[in-house]
Amino acid sequence: MSKPQSDIDKRKQISVRGIAQVEDVTEVKKTFNRHLHYTLVKDRNVATPRDYYFALAHTVKDHLVGRWIRTQQHYYEKDPKRVYYLSLEYYMGRSLQNTMINLGIQGACDEAMYQVGLDIEELEELEEDAGLGNGGLGRLAACFLDSMATLGLAAYGYGIRYEYGIFAQKIKNGEQVEEPDDWLRFGNPWEKARPEFMLPINFYGRVMDTPEGKKWVDTQIVYAMPYDNPIPGYGNNHVNTLRLWSAKSPIDFNLKFFNDGDYIQAVLDRNLAENISRVLYPNDNFFEGKELRLKQEYFMCAATLQDIIRRYKSSKFGTREAVRQDFKHFPDKVAIQLNDTHPSLAIPELMRILVDVEKLPWDEAWDVTVRTCAYTNHTVLPEALERWPVSMLESILPRHLQIIYHINFLHMENVKKKFPGDLDRMRRMSLVEEDGEKRINMAHLSIVGSHAVNGVAAIHSEIIKQEIFKDFYEMEPQKFQNKTNGITPRRWLLLCNPGLADIICEKIGEEWPVHLDQLVALKKWAKDPQFQRAVAKVKQENKLKLAQILEKDYGVKVNPASMFDIQVKRIHEYKRQLLNCLHIITLYNRIKKDPTANFTPRTIMIGGKAAPGYYMAKQIIKLICAVGNVVNNDPIVGEKLKVIFLENYRVTLAEKIMPAADLSEQISTAGTEASGTGNMKFMLNGALTIGTLDGANVEMAEEMGRDNIFIFGMTVEEVEALKQKGYNAYDYYNSNPDIRQCIDQIQGGFFSPGNPNEFKNIADVLLKYDRFFLLADYEAYIKAQDLVSKTYQNQSKWLEMAIHNIASSGKFSSDRTIAEYAREIWGVEPTWEKLAAPHEISN
Ligand SMILES: *Cc1c(COP(=O)(O)O)cnc(C)c1O
Repeated sequence: MSKPQSDIDKRKQISVRGIAQVEDVTEVKKTFNRHLHYTLVKDRNVATPRDYYFALAHTVKDHLVGRWIRTQQHYYEKDPKRVYYLSLEYYMGRSLQNTMINLGIQGACDEAMYQVGLDIEELEELEEDAGLGNGGLGRLAACFLDSMATLGLAAYGYGIRYEYGIFAQKIKNGEQVEEPDDWLRFGNPWEKARPEFMLPINFYGRVMDTPEGKKWVDTQIVYAMPYDNPIPGYGNNHVNTLRLWSAKSPIDFNLKFFNDGDYIQAVLDRNLAENISRVLYPNDNFFEGKELRLKQEYFMCAATLQDIIRRYKSSKFGTREAVRQDFKHFPDKVAIQLNDTHPSLAIPELMRILVDVEKLPWDEAWDVTVRTCAYTNHTVLPEALERWPVSMLESILPRHLQIIYHINFLHMENVKKKFPGDLDRMRRMSLVEEDGEKRINMAHLSIVGSHAVNGVAAIHSEIIKQEIFKDFYEMEPQKFQNKTNGITPRRWLLLCNPGLADIICEKIGEEWPVHLDQLVALKKWAKDPQFQRAVAKVKQENKLKLAQILEKDYGVKVNPASMFDIQVKRIHEYKRQLLNCLHIITLYNRIKKDPTANFTPRTIMIGGKAAPGYYMAKQIIKLICAVGNVVNNDPIVGEKLKVIFLENYRVTLAEKIMPAADLSEQISTAGTEASGTGNMKFMLNGALTIGTLDGANVEMAEEMGRDNIFIFGMTVEEVEALKQKGYNAYDYYNSNPDIRQCIDQIQGGFFSPGNPNEFKNIADVLLKYDRFFLLADYEAYIKAQDLVSKTYQNQSKWLEMAIHNIASSGKFSSDRTIAEYAREIWGVEPTWEKLAAPHEISN
């Protein structure tokens, strides 16, 4: 299979990625050879492709370090308010190409590799994804880091350096098999360990009353070792830091064994302490109350807060010393953003430090804490909300439990004052849940301990105020805000879709990567046949490229002339991959019924990981594969319909899928998807969306107009009304023969001839236990899909709509999102400041 060279050619043409200057190319080649020789200790005779990748990565990193050091120096000297983003997940993907683009040296690197006879795209493929995230929440954190650096904010990401990221998904015999993600096996060229900033973290122990106040004593200590990762801004010579903590056992860990003389056992047990940062919990939108996870959350918060306070106190100006002693001005210098409740122990931990260590009076400490912290809610699904058993906190974090109880005592006093006699409201708003096993509601803690609480799309922020946190909204309405999510246009257009980026540059210039609003200017060419042809050509090339990958990696042949209809996201019942599946089965049944009828050929691709312990999600993957088996091997179907399960969906695969998609499936039950960001990636790359009025789909439809999107199904209000009335799936099953046929086939083993009962449980869920009302939306969905098919037949109309999609995606830049967080929550102003590049500085 010959590889299309067009992308490399495109990458060289435009200056948004950096023009290749002769001196720069020479410099890159020199540095590359030096690293091959001195860092990798290889010559061209024995070097492997991976050696070449590492040599190039180190070369690119060399271009970073001057800017990195200078940026940090700049922050130290200007001492602006620092923004701290705390997240248990960062779904970064690869760094090489992103770094080259943001530094403006991609052109030079492409040319240098060409001149030394290497295929740079092949080298890029050798980088492991940094898969330290599950899905949207982790990827959002990664997009935010890119935007914070690009807007010139003095921002830091803090998280955990998991030794094993999100598992690799293999499909074996039509089902998911998980493999550990040993991403650090060959080393990580981007990170820098900082042993000098290693910090002790306490666990267990007991609380002692002393004349000087409470003391947490007899604890077990684990060390937190920081690893710094550079976060380059786009074209502004800023490089921020993502600091990830790794657990290190103390030298004297398990002293008891030393005393017993069991030296070997003592050394072996050091692993126990270091297990804290071993592995990412693979749940998306699901709370699993495991002790190790609680330790991870506290480990991250405690290490990060020590670091924040150390930096706060170490201002270089003597005049600030006095101010820094009493912490009054802490909230003027520090903003802490909590990415969901996962890092919410930062609130009681900050209180512990201020009260127990710094000896602030409680009320002052509380004022400082609330003015510093802000909380982003990411889901309203009850099974995802963190509620830690009191018993677990009591043993692992006894002092924090006391602090949480005291926070709750004062909080309850406030509720009582505002709503006297409303005992039921007090029960609902308590941080402590008393029904059944006593638990702490971490969302309640986060709201009470923050000055700002935000949802991640307009509709989601309304649901928060009107439904799940209604009581808290009525108590403190001024806290509640909306910050609609976004994606970085650097990775999700410039990097992943060079063909589209180029034709956009030809039309509107090269500012759009930092001013995505400017895409709106493309609207005037929406009907222009020449521009439509250019957009169509790019899409076709991208589809061909994806088709070649599918053939090479999975051995499946697809027809690149068919509509690429794609749903990629974590597998979850609320995301309704099963509804997509019902559409596939419906199309199949139609073809079988009348093979000669007019049909718009589709390649339907579904991809995503199921949490290893989520039985139904794994069944859904099985069903998709089984349906694919039947459909793809039926000669009557032929080229009309292909069903493909995309194995191991991750950031790197998303970068290949988005540019090649014709149709984006965003079909969650209204009111369940907080925002979605996959929807935005598709839109920016010119796919049309079929979707419900859920999450950010609502605002996408507003931006592009309802004529340019296929909206279907119940609204949030209609879902609510159906819940009130009572949902009976059999109403739909009995009245719609197409539904009945699909379900009977699933139920009766049509797709599982070897095991007729295989999918009975799926039919059971659809008919009896369905919390997400699939059958209620089925008819509207099929109707919308039929309109999609009809529209696709009119390519000029389709392209006009696609251009409208691209042109309307400006709002969904994470630069816009971050500017809003900065002004409305953090109290900092984006500077968009450009620092001087190191070589532009004399001395
Ligand atoms: C963007 C992204 C997601 C989020 O997708 P949604 O459709 O918003 O759930 C998940 N995984 C990866 C790899 C992504 O890039």
